[in-house]
Amino acid sequence: MSSTLDDQSVYPISAEAARQLARPLFGHVIDGAVVPSLDGSTMAVIDPATERHVATAAAGSAVDAERAARSARAAFDDGRWRFLPPLEKERRMRRLASLLAERADVFAEIDVIDSGLPRFYEGFIVQFAVDGIDYYAGWPSKLAGAIPAVPSDLVVYQHREPIGAIGLITPWNGPTAVFAAVAAAISAGNSVVLKPAEQTPMSAVLMAELALEAGIPPGVFNVVQGVGEVVGAALVTSANIDAVSFTGSVATGSAIQAAAAARVKRVSLELGGKSPFIVFPDADLEAAAAAAMAGVWGASGQVCTAGSRLLVHRSVHDTLVSMIIDGSRDIQLGSGFDPSSQLGPLVSAEQLERVRRYVGYGRDEGAELVLGGERHGDVGYFHQPTVFTSVRNDMRIAREEIFGPVMSVLEFGSEEEAIAIANDTEYGLAAGVWTNDLGLAHRTSRALRAGTVWVNTYQMVYPTVPYGGVKNSGHGRSLGAASLDDFTEIKSVWMKVGG
Ligand code: ADP
Repeated sequence: MSSTLDDQSVYPISAEAARQLARPLFGHVIDGAVVPSLDGSTMAVIDPATERHVATAAAGSAVDAERAARSARAAFDDGRWRFLPPLEKERRMRRLASLLAERADVFAEIDVIDSGLPRFYEGFIVQFAVDGIDYYAGWPSKLAGAIPAVPSDLVVYQHREPIGAIGLITPWNGPTAVFAAVAAAISAGNSVVLKPAEQTPMSAVLMAELALEAGIPPGVFNVVQGVGEVVGAALVTSANIDAVSFTGSVATGSAIQAAAAARVKRVSLELGGKSPFIVFPDADLEAAAAAAMAGVWGASGQVCTAGSRLLVHRSVHDTLVSMIIDGSRDIQLGSGFDPSSQLGPLVSAEQLERVRRYVGYGRDEGAELVLGGERHGDVGYFHQPTVFTSVRNDMRIAREEIFGPVMSVLEFGSEEEAIAIANDTEYGLAAGVWTNDLGLAHRTSRALRAGTVWVNTYQMVYPTVPYGGVKNSGHGRSLGAASLDDFTEIKSVWMKVGG
């Protein structure tokens, strides 16, 4: 552990971020208090750009997960949050959005150290969280039931009620972004236990403290730190947790759904993708190349919607690939704090190893490596932007989510072939379509099996727009009013009125 002074000399961060980083422990947050694990276990927080041990987090056990679950349950059961008047909930949530906006730098700086993502990118992530909280702050007064049509001797009305205590299990890419999902859950009156990824435990503690400062009562937003197989799994089976919202890999999501089934527990899953980015011959190639690069190099490819399968019409293939190689050759890799760096490290040594393994599969299976392919430097988990051409859709680099800066380029000859290749995947999270032909854009958007289709743009998100997948990319939706369906139940009250 380094002192505040050391950290400020190493990182160009605000005094407040340095003060936060110097905490002796990023603990659990249970019933409004930051606490260590009951057995005192800890885990190191590693900066992926320098491999330095920068802080220490609690490593929870199943007992700690249950303490957090009980805290959420108690906060729900006594109604300290859900029974506040709707406008009072809204006022406090708006205050939370304002507080986060005021401390945007602190959250962004802490997340850069934790995740390695570039500072400018973290700026967008924190703004996304502010917008998400602001959006959901408007919902408590608008969540209303309905009065269905029934025979005249009856009156039936419906309440739209919170589910209870929600377990939110999240990955490492853009840790503060999770605040938007927390806001969705609590705007409906639920309480939450957030289990951040073990690679990025820091900002969750700051978020829960900010919520307390905004007047969200203790116990409504809890955090439990630790390894997924231990604390995440314990939340999924806890009798005190009513529903689980998970973002991560297909294997883990599938295991969570199976475990939740034993308790008939509601689950929503966002499980990544292998998104096709389709470029038709009439497209604006310059714009498409820029978006294709941003879509895979952004966050070093550690984004669920990375456009990792670039499907290009044969007639423009060579031109587009040259544009991408020319535009990517000189990309600066470096610390997220270096203003000249465009690409940060991968989050961990394991993730770097995974990317290297997939580059090996690409070579072995006969794809042509036309850019990158190697680790960058020997300190920090950096990997060069990497492009494979002559990729067939049955190769592992076309089928499996790598979560790294690796672009697989496939050729097609017709609209039908493009759609067939695009849909020939276990995933269905997102897709990109590049064409100026209106009919082609609409036909393709309809034919693609994906939760989101972007036309002549890529990776746009906005809090009002639902986000989520089909097929193995999961089910349920985050963002927008649709997210509230995952966090509410409908209760029907029947009354016999005679007549
Ligand atoms: P990745 O880290 O590759 O995105 P994971 O799906 O393993 O994929 O991790 C996403 C989140 O799920 C993390 O917070 C992790 O700790 C958690 N997790 C991992 N395994 C389990 C599990 N068996 N049960 C519950 N949560 C888990």
